[in-house]
Amino acid sequence: MKVFKFGGASVKDAESIKNVFNVLQQVGHDDVLLVISAMGKTTNALEAVIKNYINKSPGLQASIQEVKKYHNQILLDLFDDEGHAVFSAVNKIFNDLESFLKNNKSPNYNYVYDQVVSQGEIISTTIVSEYFNYQGLKNSWIDVREFIKTDNTYRDALVDWEQTQKRISKGIKKKNLNITQGFLGSDENNFTTTLGREGSDYTAAIFAYCLNAESVTIWKDVPGVLNADPRYFENAILLNQISYREAIELAFYGATVIHPKTLQPLQRKEIPLYVKSFINPLLPGTSVSKGADLEPQSSCYIVKKNQLLVSLSSLDFSFIMEENISEIFGLLHKYKMKVSLIQNTAISFSVCVDDKFGNFDELKSILSKKFKVTYNEDVSLYTIRHFTDTSVDAVAKNKEVLVKQISRETLQIVTTDLE
Ligand code: ADP
Ligand code: ASP
Ligand code: MG
Repeated sequence: MKVFKFGGASVKDAESIKNVFNVLQQVGHDDVLLVISAMGKTTNALEAVIKNYINKSPGLQASIQEVKKYHNQILLDLFDDEGHAVFSAVNKIFNDLESFLKNNKSPNYNYVYDQVVSQGEIISTTIVSEYFNYQGLKNSWIDVREFIKTDNTYRDALVDWEQTQKRISKGIKKKNLNITQGFLGSDENNFTTTLGREGSDYTAAIFAYCLNAESVTIWKDVPGVLNADPRYFENAILLNQISYREAIELAFYGATVIHPKTLQPLQRKEIPLYVKSFINPLLPGTSVSKGADLEPQSSCYIVKKNQLLVSLSSLDFSFIMEENISEIFGLLHKYKMKVSLIQNTAISFSVCVDDKFGNFDELKSILSKKFKVTYNEDVSLYTIRHFTDTSVDAVAKNKEVLVKQISRETLQIVTTDLE
């Protein structure tokens, strides 16, 4: 079996969904499991719904209407017949969402978030599956929540591999075209959980692992993995082949083309990962596989924006020792700060973190009891793999460098823009 993942950009409107259908016609669809994300920017739009709901904002209804309107237009563009069952199926999902919001009593923000945001994937897969049937491409719609079991860490759930393996081995039919949702799972009480933003690539890897799939292909709006994000760097070039190790390093430091959790399950079973263009599906793209000899020949540039640089120093000039550091890390873990750079001296300790869940204010007040806390918000972390003097100069130009760190293959700088 092959696993294909189509992300938000590949199903953002009717034309794009027709293109996915064409991609499958070109590359084949027998014995394939398709993992599909929410359409376009639906997850962000549903995040706005949740914000309005939690804040009891009068804008709640309008924000729900916006998501409805967007999907309804896609339905109208895909299906000639407004009496088609898909219209009422999608309508029912919205009705269920609204009654959830009306009846919910839970004050747990993260729980509410997952119950709401997950509907983006439920809607997108319903539409795509029905559209394929409508075009004569028979497929089975699968509710991923019956297969991927997780703990109840809403918004960042951990996979229960044993349960997941059992269910997938037993329940997924091979020799069929299966369509399922990325990013979602369910906990032991069958409440919906999510695997972290952009987690659909990871879903594809989970299925591939449990199915011993032949390969995973993630279809993107870029030709493959480039040596830099084309949104921020000019003249990015395609990396034809890279090792799991290189890919995991690139993804970890912020190359958003692959979700960082995707690589480990694939690497463990040596399942190749292909990153290909959904615009030119027959081009080879990038292949990620085993091999120490697959080091890119050119420097790779990665940028993570909106990072937080936090520096802690002792209040009484005492050293920052192992016990302080372990306490600091305990707190960073507790408040779900994703650490991407660490630097320490005798009496100070700095970390560059991603405050994905907006917990810094709370953490800061706790740290301030023991340390002098200074911080820079909205900094950028640049990572250059296989750096050269010229590549470093090009990145540091017009920027104030706050921290610089060099290891054999990787150079990192934390910067603020000077312009
Ligand atoms: P999806 O539609 O699957 O969610 P994403 O938008 O998350 O896809 O990922 C594709 C985007 O990743 C590209 O449009 C590109 O801007 C960005 N990107 C970041 N780093 C890289 C890189 N090294 N190579 C290619 N694309 C990259
Ligand atoms: N729809 C989810 C998100 O936008 C998951 C994904 O697209 O991978 O984060
Ligand atoms: Mg995405």
